[in-house]
Amino acid sequence: MDRRQVLTHALGGTVVMLLGPAELAWGAQLVAVRIWPAADYTRVTLESDMPLNATFFSVENPSRLVIDIEGLELSSQLREVVSKVRPDDPFIAGVRVGQNRPKVARLVVDLKQSIKPQVFGLPPVAAYQHRLVFDLYPTHAADPKLGLALPAASAPVASAPRVPASVASSASASAQSDQAAEAMNDALGDFIGGLKRPAAPAPSGDRAVAKAAPKAADDRESTLSSNNKAGAKRLVIVALDAGHGGEDPGAVGPSGLYEKDVVLSVAHKLRTLINAQPGMRAMLTRESDYFVPLHERVTKARRVQADLFVSIHADAFMNPQARGASVFALSENGASSAAARWMAKKENASDQVGGVNIKVKDASVMRAMLDMSTTAQIKDSIKLGNAILGHLGKIGRLHRGKVEQASFAVLKAPDIPSILVETGFISNPEEEAKLKDSDYQRELADALLLGIQRYFAKNPPLARNRAL
Ligand SMILES: [Zn+2]
Repeated sequence: MDRRQVLTHALGGTVVMLLGPAELAWGAQLVAVRIWPAADYTRVTLESDMPLNATFFSVENPSRLVIDIEGLELSSQLREVVSKVRPDDPFIAGVRVGQNRPKVARLVVDLKQSIKPQVFGLPPVAAYQHRLVFDLYPTHAADPKLGLALPAASAPVASAPRVPASVASSASASAQSDQAAEAMNDALGDFIGGLKRPAAPAPSGDRAVAKAAPKAADDRESTLSSNNKAGAKRLVIVALDAGHGGEDPGAVGPSGLYEKDVVLSVAHKLRTLINAQPGMRAMLTRESDYFVPLHERVTKARRVQADLFVSIHADAFMNPQARGASVFALSENGASSAAARWMAKKENASDQVGGVNIKVKDASVMRAMLDMSTTAQIKDSIKLGNAILGHLGKIGRLHRGKVEQASFAVLKAPDIPSILVETGFISNPEEEAKLKDSDYQRELADALLLGIQRYFAKNPPLARNRAL
């Protein structure tokens, strides 16, 4: 039984867990208190100059989480947490703080719904000192299709197409994800399948073969293009991944502009454009300002069986003269340039800065799964990248005229063409000013949409190997 289950099932009892190193951090000073509310989960971060030891337990009726932090005196910094709770926080109704006993501060988090907490410490990284993190996840996670703005007529039926067992097991990191994927297939598959196959459904076995054999990409395209000539249409889903978020600001411009804010804004604009296209829907891997671990971004895209994955960034480079947009795809055999390798390393560090609980089992399983072959994915990703570069080049300068490749963790969905777009260099004062401008963000979103449409025009959605 894992820790989350213990907490879920032992509500009302006392479950105590020691965190961090054994030595007590007497006299630790809080540096900052932050709360990141989101529909997925709410995070509470206590940043301090020394590692903090905490014990916690859940109490029901009313639902609350009680956290005792050793070596911490009640201070004005700690009291700040009370005023940082937002009324629209989906999980936290309020926080009370007090001195439980000498050198032990107590936080009582009053909850709006039943939660599964994850509590973990993070060592100093980037601009942060020690962090003690409380992630409050819902006991029952939301249906991923809720973010897709699907028509109401998508009620599941018993005959809904299903992912073949072999595909489902490779497509999901854990039993839990399998269930989520299956539920998704039941609910979404019927709707998409209905649009996709007005004629008799193709045998699911063929799809499984196409999926299991990436080298069959060309065959797949010719086979499915002929289907396309018959006029078959289906809903196309584009996963939009606004980089960074929450504890991870991404790059910061010379005037203080955060990458995480720019890219979220571009992603929202692009979602609006995509959802206005007939037969297209966008899914955001994050809707607001909170951190989503890299593997979770990939998992979210796979749960909705996205046709494309577009990660949006606006990074910094050591040289403030660096400018222009660039597009990256995954690499199987090393980076295409030193700069691409550097960029991938920087982006992959997002998990350390954003803060991931490395003890969560699903994450390691997911990482192992992502080592699957991605040859066909990369080929399609480069096509998509070139289509997007063509349109980005019309609205501004390109950093490099071809798709670069490196080992970006967020691009590793083996079955979804995935690219990472650096919309510009936020470290370049001129480009920072453009990236801040709402009109330019809209131009970026337009260019991304046109690139996506051009890709689909040449590679019809039916050519995708999505299993339904
Ligand atoms: Zn970035």
